Amino acid sequence: MTGFLDNAEIEIPCPKCGKKSKQRLGRLNNNSSIRCGFCGTIIELKTDGPGGLAQAKKSAEKSLADLKRSLGKLGR
Ligand SMILES: [Zn+2]
Repeated sequence: MTGFLDNAEIEIPCPKCGKKSKQRLGRLNNNSSIRCGFCGTIIELKTDGPGGLAQAKKSAEKSLADLKRSLGKLGR
């Protein structure tokens, strides 16, 4: 289950160019900063607070839970 979540992608908005880079959660667990794929800016990631990594993880977990729930309904 942890591996599945690690492959979930979240979008990190770049403060400089405003474009969103998709990053895998598993990668973000080991890195506190990412490089914007569009302009090359290094984006320091916040771990908590609004727009922080903890919140992003929570929403990814929630959408996975929703997905599992709807899959479970289909299976019956
Ligand atoms: Zn950028």
